[in-house]
Amino acid sequence: MVRIGMEPTANLEQLRHSAAHLLAHAVYELYPDTLFTIGPATEDGFFYDMLPHTNFKECDLPLIEERMRELAKRNYPIVHTLITAEKAREIFKDNRFKLQLIDEINQPLVGLATQGEFKDLCRGGHVSHTGDIQHFKLEAISGSYWKANRDDQALQRISGTAFFSDEELKKYEQKKLDAIQYDHRRLGKQLDLFSFHEEGPGFAFFHPKGRLVLNLLIEYMRKLQKEYNYQEISTPILLSDSLWHQSGHYAHYKDKMYFCSIDEREFAVKPMNCPGSTLIFSERPRSYRELPLKLAEFGLVHRHELSGVLHGLMRVRSFTQDDAHIYCTIDQVEDQVVSIIRMMQRLLAKFSFTNVSFAVSTRPDDSMGDDIQWEKATNALTNALQKEGISHKIQDKEGAFYGPKIEVKIQDAMEREWQCGTVQIDFNMPHNFDLSFINSKGEKERPVMVHQAIYGSFERIFAIILEHYKGLLPFWLCPVQVRALPITNAQQEYAHEIINSLKAAGIRADMDASGDPLSGQIKNAQAEKIPWMLVLGKKETELNVVTLRHRDGKQELNLPLNQIIEKAHELMNI
Ligand SMILES: [Zn+2]
Ligand SMILES: [Zn+2]
Repeated sequence: MVRIGMEPTANLEQLRHSAAHLLAHAVYELYPDTLFTIGPATEDGFFYDMLPHTNFKECDLPLIEERMRELAKRNYPIVHTLITAEKAREIFKDNRFKLQLIDEINQPLVGLATQGEFKDLCRGGHVSHTGDIQHFKLEAISGSYWKANRDDQALQRISGTAFFSDEELKKYEQKKLDAIQYDHRRLGKQLDLFSFHEEGPGFAFFHPKGRLVLNLLIEYMRKLQKEYNYQEISTPILLSDSLWHQSGHYAHYKDKMYFCSIDEREFAVKPMNCPGSTLIFSERPRSYRELPLKLAEFGLVHRHELSGVLHGLMRVRSFTQDDAHIYCTIDQVEDQVVSIIRMMQRLLAKFSFTNVSFAVSTRPDDSMGDDIQWEKATNALTNALQKEGISHKIQDKEGAFYGPKIEVKIQDAMEREWQCGTVQIDFNMPHNFDLSFINSKGEKERPVMVHQAIYGSFERIFAIILEHYKGLLPFWLCPVQVRALPITNAQQEYAHEIINSLKAAGIRADMDASGDPLSGQIKNAQAEKIPWMLVLGKKETELNVVTLRHRDGKQELNLPLNQIIEKAHELMNI
């Protein structure tokens, strides 16, 4: 036997993979006839896929976890050695999965991990003793398949997580609880924002309050686009299938498109807005003087996603994009990208997304367009980012076949990453639609097209924002911003006056007319996550003031209404 040696200091992946061994070891002691397959570390923890004699149930987990703790206490050294394949076949002779793995490794020597009585086939990378695995938790039992192949043997997967400290484990558990508690689907129901119905699977129904938030998101984008000189257009949802053949969508995207036939003519529901936009560009001759031409569209697109991947508003079959197309010369691309990045920065700051990462995807092997075009376009993207002082990754050869792109990822308050904006340079569509403009020499020239989406989809950003703020939307986005709470019926009239003045000042206000005691009124307003409550008692009515109670419980006494209006306008940026 050749001793390979223990890791002096293990990393998280090694800790988690060792926890998978510990799990298998515990199962081996408790259920010796279980067949083990593989037990890797994952991004969040670890799992082990196995074939037990009788299927495990959720209630078996505490018992297995307890045995893991006991094995940790026994503090076996975890020893990794290399043994001959022949010896390994002997050790694992009753486990067809391990035998298959040994065949696949196809080497004279294979790795063996030993801890106490338990032996596992393994290529190595562990903590030194079972006692090093202290802060772990088993989380779930689920189904899996050998080699992830549905036609192969069904297995059971036990998954869990492990950390180096209890503090990290607790933080992780809290994040998981938060993710459940602040899941946008749950908040959407709680706050009466949107719903889904069997009659329209994958299509969101927006309730009055949800539609209001969506409109506010759209209006804010519209305002930004105006500032950056975009012109808004709209194009039809149904377009003839010849257009989709011409654009290339039919060839590459057909599986995700909806089709219909009208008057014996074939139509497709648009999955993207770009081809429609090009029809407007080429509707009349264009001069170089018009470039860059920036056409924006809040385009409703439909894409047939498989039912298994649908996920609330995050993944729907119909959504509105904040789409824009810039028609320009290759030399204008850099300035255009600078201005898109500035727009993005404004928007991300507005929603307090501070952890943002940018990546430039470069030319793949199989691509169209000439070298000079690609080089110019890629340089335009990286130069623009550099000009704005933004560090970025290069995703080598990960661009689309028709041009390089910038991808923007944001991290939310729960430290999850979301792919958001894209800036895509496109040489293909101008070619497919034979787009041209007359340049300063009076010659026909082909423009470049820049596809831009900042939110990506309004539905998706709504969900992200909702979860990011844990349902506590910023004041300017709240469907109800202020609620008047009259302590007794005697203050109802005063409450009416107050909300009328607030409404007249453009503030979304209502009152609690239930006649409930104040504590009940506050509880309801809290549940609806209304940012400001105006408590109106006898004293407030007499002095013609209000008591402002914030959603976090802080109070400000005896404020005149005009001060409330001023504060609200500040938050609404009016
Ligand atoms: Zn191992
Ligand atoms: Zn586009």
